[in-house]
Parts: sequence; C-alpha cells; structure tokens
Amino acid sequence: MDESVLPRIISRPEHPISRKDIDPDALKILYRLHHHGFMAYLVGGCVRDLFLGKTPKDFDLATDAHPRQIRDLFRNSRLIGRRFRLAHVYFPGGKYIEVATFRRRSEFDEQTPNPSPHSDNTFGTPAEDALRRDITINGIFYNIADFSLVDYVGGLEDLRRGIIRCIGDPEEKFVQDPVRMIRVIRHAARTGFSIEENTYRSLLTHVDRLRLCSPARLRDEFLRELREGAARESIQRMLETGMLFVLFPSLAGPLQDGKRKEYVLGSLEVLDRLHLSENAASDDFCLALFLLPFLEFFCPPDEFPGGRKGQADFELKVREWLIHTLGPFLFTRHSREAATQLLAGQRILHQFPPPGKIPWRWARRPSFYRALRLFELGAGLRGEEPSRFLCPPADKKFSRRKRIRRFRKKGKRGNRGTPAGVAPSPGDPVS
Ligand code: ATP
Ligand code: MG
Repeated sequence: MDESVLPRIISRPEHPISRKDIDPDALKILYRLHHHGFMAYLVGGCVRDLFLGKTPKDFDLATDAHPRQIRDLFRNSRLIGRRFRLAHVYFPGGKYIEVATFRRRSEFDEQTPNPSPHSDNTFGTPAEDALRRDITINGIFYNIADFSLVDYVGGLEDLRRGIIRCIGDPEEKFVQDPVRMIRVIRHAARTGFSIEENTYRSLLTHVDRLRLCSPARLRDEFLRELREGAARESIQRMLETGMLFVLFPSLAGPLQDGKRKEYVLGSLEVLDRLHLSENAASDDFCLALFLLPFLEFFCPPDEFPGGRKGQADFELKVREWLIHTLGPFLFTRHSREAATQLLAGQRILHQFPPPGKIPWRWARRPSFYRALRLFELGAGLRGEEPSRFLCPPADKKFSRRKRIRRFRKKGKRGNRGTPAGVAPSPGDPVS
C-alpha cells in the first residue's frame, strides 16, 4: 500500500534548510551513503528543528542500506539493538550519529510481532518509515541527493500552520503506544503549537492507558518534559488533560489548592530558566524542584521534634513519600535518594534563622550546597527574602572550592554553623 503513497517534494529554493546548519559529520555520512548508491535522509526531530531555525539536539539518519551494508561502509561504526538493528557511527570525543534502515513499524508498537533482527520484514520503504512515526512535524525527510524535503505525512503544512497532529489515526497510535501522548504534549509545549482537534480528543480518551506503559519509558519521557526548557508549558498541559494525575495520582489532592498550583508552575518556570542559563540540572534536582511545592503537604515539618532524631524521622518520611509518589516510575534508587536528601535538607535550612548557623554534621554533607540552591530557588518562589545565607556575588574572588575550604576551616575552629558567604553562587551545582 505504501508504494502508492506519493510524497510532496519541496525543492531547495522553497525551504530554508541549508547544509551549513547540518552537522558536518552527519553530512559526511549522508554523502558517503549517497555516493554508494543508497538513499540517505536526515529524519525526525532535526529536520523539524532546522526548519524552525532551532539548533537540533542530534542528527538522525535513515537509509535504504541494510545494517550490515552500513557497517561495511563505515569502519567507525557498530551495530546496536537486538530487535531493531541500527548503526552508530562514531566520531572523536565520544560523539556518534545514529543511522537506521527504513522501517515498517515503530519499535514501540505493542502489537508488532517480535521480528527476527535479520528478517527483511523489519525493513520498509521511506513511506512506511514516515508513517510509523508519531506526529507529522517529526515525519519530514531531508534528501541529500538534491537537498529537497520529502514529506509523506503533511508535516510541512503543519509546521507552517503550527499544528501538532498524529500521523494516521490518533486512536490507533495512542493505543499502540500510549507514550506518544506524552510526546504530543511535550512537542506542543516546546513549539507553542496547538494540538489538532482529533488528536486532542483521542488523547483525552486514552490518557488512562499511560498506566499500562513500561515505567522506564514513562520515566525517560517525563524527565524530558522537565529538562528540555518547556517544563512549565508541558505540566500546564498535563494538568489540563489530566495526564499529570494519571502519572502521579497522589498529587491530585494538593493541586486542588490554586496557590499550590501557581507555586508548582512557578518552580517549573525556574527549571526552564535554569535550562537556559546553566548546565542542565540533574534528574534528582529536577525532581526535587518539581516536588518542592508538595513537601509541606505530604511531610509537614512541624510534626517532627527538633534535634537529630526529628530530622532523621523527617528524612525517613520524605523517603517514604518519594517511594510512594515516584514508585511506579522506577526512578533509580540513586536519584530518588539524592532527591530525598535535597528535600529533607529544606527543613534544616528553614529552621536556622539568620545568619544561618547550620549544624556542621549536616552542612558537611555532599548534598548541602545543592539543597541550599534549592532552598534559595524555593524562597524566591514563595516571595521570601532572597537568601539568608548570602551568596557572594559571582564576581567575588572565591571559587566554589575556596568557599568550601573556608567553610570547613570555620567548622573546625568550633564555629559550628554556616558563615555567611559560603553559600553557592548562582551557577553552582544543580547537576
Ligand atoms: P528531540 O528534539 O527531543 O530529540 P525528537 O522528535 O527527535 O525530539 P526523539 O525521541 O529523538 O524525538 O525521536 C526521534 C524520532 O523518532 C522522532 O522524531 C519520531 O519521528 C520518532 N519517534 C520517537 N518516539 C516515537 C514513538 N513512540 N512512536 C513513533 N515514532 C517515534
Ligand atoms: Mg531526537
């Protein structure tokens, strides 16, 4: 059937994608495939981003060469994947580019019978490869043979009009792989495009199916929502569609409170700003910032006595809360524990009034500076005074290491508290 699908070809003068914006290593691969008589396309998110004038995160390639042929053509490549084999072509500095053979079906389609990795029924035509993808703006190809765009799915029209639309029947697409619903939300949030009516309606109908997905995939896609610079918009849309409550049922109660909702959206805005201004925050920091507005609701700090015992009990409670809330997501034990430390640390930072005499036994913990950073961000969101612990301005002569050393010295001398001026400056560790 797909042989009969004719693509719309948009020649070079009619589109803005220039070779100078394409990664030179990706170009090398495309040219070598082309010169050996194979079809060689740029595919997926990179074509979308180049069209929109953004810098793509990575460049994915597709070809009609079979994995072994790709392997033979590039000595610097390796075949990966058991179910769907594809090649990684390596470049200096640990960089690699993914080159896949056109496929008939998505690896995520649950109804896909387990194909033998070597069988030909895995592979498909370019049309089939376009139709197996999730949304139209992700289904456009860039052909190195004549620098044209090849569009089997109406993606260009949707890119121009600002529409997120499922390729094919959205009902079928979402039932086959419910994770696509999260991707629809993320792409709509990132681009600011609106979701096409039919796609939106199907999403509302099937959002509950997310419960059936593999926790590892849910975790990866959810973290991408938080980390890619459009967390506020994504979570806002997840709230509107009820998706957030499918993923985190226990958050529905506290989110009845309009103020808390504002707080959550505010903290996500901070996350988006961090994304712009600093190295990407780590998983645990993203999680902790996302969950910070719920801390008081689930673990009221006043219910615990003062002193070490109280703090230890509080930490235990935070740990249990995170296991309960994040359990189904299979966040690694390491990230969950790190997020626990960050959140539990907030109680200590709240307890100690200016000038912030933090007990040394706690302040020496590796997580201290990151907890302090979280505290400052939270204080800003709650409209409290910026910092009681006073970050030295970034231009001060203290490097982070020096600040820690100064802090430790003071601790040893018996000043069992945090001296002002040792807190992290903006740009200090979130990762
Ligand atoms: P980003 O810029 O975030 O990388 P992307 O669109 O490239 O966005 P990837 O997760 O890198 O997203 O996926 C690459 C391509 O694979 C997508 O553009 C899409 O065409 C296809 N794809 C990814 N996940 C699915 C899925 N669940 N179902 C169908 N196609 C998918
Ligand atoms: Mg990508």
